[in-house]
Amino acid sequence: MFNPSKQEGVCDKCGGPLKQRADDREETVRQRLQVNVEQQQPLLDFYTEKGYLKTIDGNQDISDVFQEVTAVLGTISE
Ligand SMILES: [Zn+2]
Repeated sequence: MFNPSKQEGVCDKCGGPLKQRADDREETVRQRLQVNVEQQQPLLDFYTEKGYLKTIDGNQDISDVFQEVTAVLGTISE
């Protein structure tokens, strides 16, 4: 779990119950990710060629990812 709630099974924001997706088995998730990667590659190539692709390391603290996203969006002009 990458962003666990403070109290297990309870949403930090609304206090509602949290439950794992029924299809959240490792094998299912791996396959879903693989399909995503395959489908995204043509888009990544397209935007890379146009020089529009911005890359952000998502393996950081969530607040750091958010700051980088915000910074990148701030560099976009019309
Ligand atoms: Zn909630």
